[in-house]
This record gives sequence, structure tokens and C-alpha cells, in this order.
Amino acid sequence: MRIVLVGPPGAGKGTQAAFLAKNLSIPHISTGDLFRANISQQTELGKLAKSFMDKGELVPDEVTIAMAKDRMEQPDAASGFLLDGFPRNVSQAEALDEMLTSEGMKLDAVLDLEVPEDEVVKRIAGRRICRNDSSHVFHVSYKAPKDEGVCDVCGGELYQRDDDSEETVRKRLEVYHTQTEPIIDYYKAQGLVVTISALGKVEEVTVRAMEALKRKDDDK
Ligand SMILES: [Zn+2]
Repeated sequence: MRIVLVGPPGAGKGTQAAFLAKNLSIPHISTGDLFRANISQQTELGKLAKSFMDKGELVPDEVTIAMAKDRMEQPDAASGFLLDGFPRNVSQAEALDEMLTSEGMKLDAVLDLEVPEDEVVKRIAGRRICRNDSSHVFHVSYKAPKDEGVCDVCGGELYQRDDDSEETVRKRLEVYHTQTEPIIDYYKAQGLVVTISALGKVEEVTVRAMEALKRKDDDK
């Protein structure tokens, strides 16, 4: 299955993406990991992205799209992938469609994780992420690691992203509403959107997501 995961900051996208990708045996492709990999391997795209970041500018969509395309062409993505953090606006969604169409492929589902705004704010401040792998995500109250500050998966150091500070949450939600939410309407027009509640335990949300994706797949 080729799936795009969308949802506001704090919806648990990274955690769900990791579980769903494992359950579905498809790679989890996150933009954060793409950027880090391209920059650390000093690829042409990585160098280009870094030149914008060093100037404090946003990396242009074309660069992000080219990185995503590279990754989607890897052999492990041949039978599907789960995109997390991409596309994040309508022009990226259109570029993704063009890219897939030119390869004779199409998306199977867009999984929309829904969570009330107050809950988002509560969730974000407690989030801790592994320095080794951004798919290793914990929460001080909802999903505490066995040892405080240490990743259960790989022993890496857990940290709070600057993005996750309470001051920036409202601003990030605003950006999500104006830039990313329109892609839900874009994909609704294609009949691809599956909306589930992201409330409850991580495992419960995964089960809910798997059932919704299965129903979507059966409908085809
Ligand atoms: Zn880890």
C-alpha cells in the first residue's frame, strides 16, 4: 500500500507511522529522516538543502520532492511506503501525484489522524524523541521510557525538540491549519481520505488505523 499520513502536530504521527510501517511491511519515509540522511551523506540534494538551512531559509519544495522521489525509488519501497511529513502543502501533494503518475503508480490511502486542539497542546510538551532515530518517540506521561531520558529501543538519548516547546505549539497548529489541512480536502476529492481518532493508547490507535486501512483496501 502507498499511504500518506496526515495529522496535526501532537497527533502521534511518527509513532503511528513506525508501527503501521512495521505491520504493513513497508518503509516509513519521514521528511526529517530524509533531510538528516541526505545531509549526513553529503548528497547533492543534501548540500543544496543545507545551503538554504544555513541561511535560515526554508528548503524549497523542489528539493524536498527530489529527496522523497529518490527514497521512493529504492528497492524496499517497490511494494509501497508510508509517507510522514510529506506532502505538507497542496503544491507538494500535486508534485507527488505527478511523480507517481509518471511511474504508473497511485496512492491507496491518506490516513488522517484527528485529535482535539487542547489535547495536542497537552501532548506536545511531554514528547521526547531519540537522538539516534526520530521514529523512537516517547512521552513523559503517556509512553514513558523505562529509564528516564533513555530510549527503550536503542539506548539513545531522549530530548525535547525546540519545536515541541509549549510556546511554539499554537504557532505550529496555525501553520498546520493554513498549509497542511488543505491537502485533506485535496485528497478527499480523490476519495482517498480515511479519518480516525488519534485519542487513546498508542496500540489502540494503531489497531484503529489498521482496521480503517483494511476497510479502505477492501473497498477498492
Ligand atoms: Zn532510539
